[in-house]
Amino acid sequence: MRLLLHICCAVCIAAPIKKLKENGVETTGYFYNPNIHPFIEFRRRIKALKVLMESEPFETVFCEDYGLREYLEKVDFKGADRCAGCYDLRLNATAKYAKENGFEAFSTTMLFSLHQNHEQIKSIGFDSEKEFGIKFEYLDYRHLAKDCQEAAKKKMLYKQSYCGCVFSEYERYKDTTKHLRKQDIEAFHKRNTNVNAGGDA
Ligand code: SF4
Repeated sequence: MRLLLHICCAVCIAAPIKKLKENGVETTGYFYNPNIHPFIEFRRRIKALKVLMESEPFETVFCEDYGLREYLEKVDFKGADRCAGCYDLRLNATAKYAKENGFEAFSTTMLFSLHQNHEQIKSIGFDSEKEFGIKFEYLDYRHLAKDCQEAAKKKMLYKQSYCGCVFSEYERYKDTTKHLRKQDIEAFHKRNTNVNAGGDA
């Protein structure tokens, strides 16, 4: 089968690529992630995938235009509901490219992550299948998550600490003291304690 596989990051494909090869799946990667911010983080993740491909060669199409505006237009201040739009944006683009370029099916490495909404991605994948008239190949390699981490460590790949968008970066760090001066940490904890106790109300 000729599969176009949307790749969200190097870590998520680091172990499954071997399995796909063993299973005889002719896989082409598709890096299309307008959800990754800021720009330098976007570059880091592209670079990590290219580094992985040096030791584990497979073809990949890279969409290297920084898609901040495209992403923001799609999620449109939807708060916690933004992920559905984000999945939709990436899966639709993958399905469209697959259809236009003679692939037999498409899928995504987002299905391999323990941190994503697996069922929502699956459901949106099948919606894209209907919309673009190309098979959505449902794959689940979540059991390889540990192997992905180990492979990434061994190959010294960059490992991101948040999902991708500016919102997820804020959610990741807002309750930590990262990049605070020592003398500001006490005030940070005090503020947090007050908020949690309803002191700001
Ligand atoms: S948290 Fe991740 S999946 Fe959700 S909108 Fe942000 S980048 Fe997309």
